[in-house]
Amino acid sequence: FEAKRLRQGVAVYNPGAEAARALHLSLLSDLATAIQHDELRQFLQPKRCVKTGRVVGAEALVRWLHPQRGWLPPGDFIPFAERSGRIRQITEWMLARAVRTLAGWAAEGREPMTIAVNISTLDLQDQALPARLAALLAEHGVDPGLLQLEVTETGLMSSSADPIAVLHALRSWGVKLAIDDFGTGQSSLAYLQHLPVDELKIDRSFVQDVHRDPRRQALLKSIVGVGQSLGLTVTAEGVENEAELACITACGCDLMQGYLLARPMDLPDFERWRGEAG
Ligand code: C2E
Ligand code: MG
Ligand code: MG
Ligand code: MG
Repeated sequence: FEAKRLRQGVAVYNPGAEAARALHLSLLSDLATAIQHDELRQFLQPKRCVKTGRVVGAEALVRWLHPQRGWLPPGDFIPFAERSGRIRQITEWMLARAVRTLAGWAAEGREPMTIAVNISTLDLQDQALPARLAALLAEHGVDPGLLQLEVTETGLMSSSADPIAVLHALRSWGVKLAIDDFGTGQSSLAYLQHLPVDELKIDRSFVQDVHRDPRRQALLKSIVGVGQSLGLTVTAEGVENEAELACITACGCDLMQGYLLARPMDLPDFERWRGEAG
């Protein structure tokens, strides 16, 4: 068989694919102990009100400080954490961390700010998640309205169970919900009316270079219009420069997030930044 493949000129040995497979397998087994070994970190990226300039919240983004490989971005491990089911423990850890931070800020008497945690399709199949989260919030005395959950449009569409039921349950506890990466999935704008959400986060692909492309600007404007007419707060993701900010402001976006404002930071850096930003 190998000889036949060789004759056909097909590569029998592909070191690239082999290495990638080995890397995935070793990361997968390392991920099993990452939480016990305290290797996950929660970074926070602020979100600002376009009109008032006030910082209203932050998005929590996971990082993995791998003992051998150093800092790993979520894109390097979240996909197979989702495939292996390990994502549930990551979500649990992220939620606990966010709630502790919110409790800490309240205890210090700081002005309230939301924290948004990204959850995946698998989490939405977990019928017990809403009650568990409510218990966590109650245990720390945190206002549920300060915790937000972000779920991607594609995550909702690909869920086998009924994700809307879990969203309703979460919302009945007072937790806020956002649709993440909006515009990248296959769902129609009409689908939005059935979703019990509070915020629409427009994907960076609509924001990037929006000032250079009138068609992109038209799209952005109409998404903002539909979102706001449904009573949703509309956020522009990934704003990197002043030109994009001017454009998303003209399009009527409520909130902005992106490198122009700040990069994701660890908690001490975020608190320092918040102090300086006023
Ligand atoms: P996302 O939820 O859409 O998060 C925004 C991503 O865009 C973050 O990447 C953030 O660092 C990046 N970003 C923010 N502003 C800018 C900008 O101005 N320009 C550019 N180029 N990028 C910007 P990150 O941290 O690498 O996360 C990537 C994705 O991984 C997230 O996209 C989210 O889908 C997923 N993710 C992150 N943390 C978690 C988590 O705890 N659980 C789950 N299930 N997914 C997570
Ligand atoms: Mg997100
Ligand atoms: Mg996003
Ligand atoms: Mg994304």
